[in-house]
Parts: sequence; C-alpha cells; structure tokens
Amino acid sequence: MTVGSMPWDRPAPERAGLPSAWSLFPEELAALGCPGSALETFRRLHRPWTWKDGAPDLGSGIRRWLEGVADLRLPRIVEQQPSADGATKLALDLADGKRIEAVHMPRKVRNPRVTYCLSSQVGCAMGCTFCATGSMGILRNLQPGEILGQVLAVMAELGPDRGHLLTLVFMGMGEPLHNLEHLHRAIRLMGHPAGLGIGMGRITVSTSGLVSGIEKLAKLEPRPMLALSLNATTDEARSRTMPVNRVWDLARLRQALDAWGLKRGEKLTFEYVLLAGENDTEADAERLAAWLGDLRRGHNLNLIPMNEHDASSFRQPGEARVQAFSDWLKARGCFVTVRRSRGRDVQGACGQLVKGKDLHERRISHG
Ligand code: SF4
Repeated sequence: MTVGSMPWDRPAPERAGLPSAWSLFPEELAALGCPGSALETFRRLHRPWTWKDGAPDLGSGIRRWLEGVADLRLPRIVEQQPSADGATKLALDLADGKRIEAVHMPRKVRNPRVTYCLSSQVGCAMGCTFCATGSMGILRNLQPGEILGQVLAVMAELGPDRGHLLTLVFMGMGEPLHNLEHLHRAIRLMGHPAGLGIGMGRITVSTSGLVSGIEKLAKLEPRPMLALSLNATTDEARSRTMPVNRVWDLARLRQALDAWGLKRGEKLTFEYVLLAGENDTEADAERLAAWLGDLRRGHNLNLIPMNEHDASSFRQPGEARVQAFSDWLKARGCFVTVRRSRGRDVQGACGQLVKGKDLHERRISHG
C-alpha cells in the first residue's frame, strides 16, 4: 500500500456557499466592509454568554450587512441524550442537513470546568474497524465556522458561560488531521482574545496516526496538544484494525512523534482502546512499553476499555484483564490511566459516535 492510494489521501468534499460568519477574523470582517467596529462584531458573535434568545445581539444594521456576506446559521442542536454520569450526547444538524455529534462532559465534583468532545468531519475516511463512525465513510469536511459553531451552540445551550472554563478534545466524528486547514483556522479563532480565548493547552487533537498531518501540524503556530490513538502493538494487528497503519507503520509513527519536538509544558497523550482477545495480553503490554520508549514517563497513556456497539464485533475485556493490563504497563514504567468513558449509556462514549441511516444509531470517534 502506498501513499496516494488511500481514501484519506484525497481531500474530503467541502460544503459550497458563503463562508460562515464564525469563520472570519476581525480584520477579515473589516476588509469585507463591516459598517461598525469589526472587533466588537467579532466579540458579539463569539461570546455566547452575551447572546440574547440563543443568537448574537448584533444590531439590525450589522446583521443585515453580515447576512449579505456570510452565513449566519450555526449548527442546530436537534437531540440531547443525558447520561446517568452527567455527560450529554448532542446531535447537531448543519445548514445542509448533515448531522454531527458532540458530547458535553461536566467535571463531576463541584467544578465549573466542562470538557467537550467535538467532531471535525461528517463521517470519516480512516475506516478503523472498531469505530462506529469509520463505517460511515467520509461525507465532508466541517468548515472552520462549523467546527467552532458546534462549541458555541453547545455553550449557549448547556454552558459553561465562559471560554476559560472549557477543555476541548477532537475525538469525535472524523480524523481532525484530514481536515487540518479548517481545523487550524477554527482553533485560532477559538484562541482569539476577543472571542473564547481558549489556550492551546486546553485543546487536544486526537489522530489515528495520519503521519503527513502530524508533520504538518508540528510546524503550525499556535499548536494544540496532540493525542495518538494507538490501539495495537504490532504492525500486523494495527493494520488489521486501523488501515492507516498500512501506509505509516508503527516505526514511521514513532519517528513522527520524535520529530514533533515537545515544547515546554506540552505533553503527548496516547489512547489505547482495549479489545478483548485482540490487544490485551502481557506481550502487548511489553511491546507497548517498548514502543513508547522514552515517552513512557511524563506523558499520558489512557487505557479505554472498548465501548461495545453494533457496528463492531469487538468486545470489552473483563475488569480483571483491564486491571492486569494497567499493572503490566505500570511495572514497565508507564504512566497509565484507565479511562472510563463518559456517556456510555447513551452511546456517547469513544468509538460509539455514529450517524446511522435515520438518526444517530451509532456514533463517531477514536480513543
Ligand atoms: S477511530 Fe477516529 S480515525 Fe478511526 S474511523 Fe473512527 S473517527 Fe475515524
């Protein structure tokens, strides 16, 4: 298998039409002829805690002008499924009728901070066999304003009421690095001090191992945190469940991480979805620790027991095996967390997000 022959080598389809009002920086609003203060217009668009009746309070003149140059429609929340653990899975309809999903996860103990799990594409080209979204194929990229718009729509509905209380993880529908240009613009918009003002330390982009994207993102400024969905310890096994490994194998992936060049305060996160009988032996733990090498310490290794769903025949290992796998890694010097996915009872956990034929029967996401 060579670079150039896989679905993710082709650009994903794009939505046609006017740019979203939420995809424009203040200087771009000014260049388009904003009749008032472009910075103030940007501020009113990007701060949902200042909105009235679920929409930005723009004034009629600015609103009329903006409607002529940009699309003022945000992703629309059409379904909410609260989970017993406090998380809420949301389905959002885009302007062209396509549907994405996001998960709102408040911290459990009196703490106003909230984590959002977000989508970057409608569907996904990567075809991981354990993932509900992977079975959809790729429908299209989200535009920058849609990526940001899902944050604003969820904030307006469920809070929190300030950007600094948010942590964002791109672990929902899609391979974020397959939509890197739009994702990066959205991230820069999210960090704008007149908008949400979210620091890069609170945004994590999770990739399935798209090495070309990792190498591009490594050079971009600002740069979010990187997470890698690893999930196997031999090329044979990884290629079986994650087709991206047939092009960029484990050795090439490790090389890309070495070249990432960690900056002060940055950490890498490794996600490992535990699949019963597939990747949960002591030999796997041994190989995983060896592959991580000097990244074993000081970085996060999250073990995620498989969230079972109808689109995959993989099953979750028993509790004793999960604990044993964690212990084997700890004994080899790894810093391990067993991550209990939030929203499991509403199919909102990792690997469960997917839009099915009618409603979202399944859900998207990588570890
Ligand atoms: S695990 Fe992630 S990269 Fe793989 S198919 Fe699912 S959404 Fe795409």
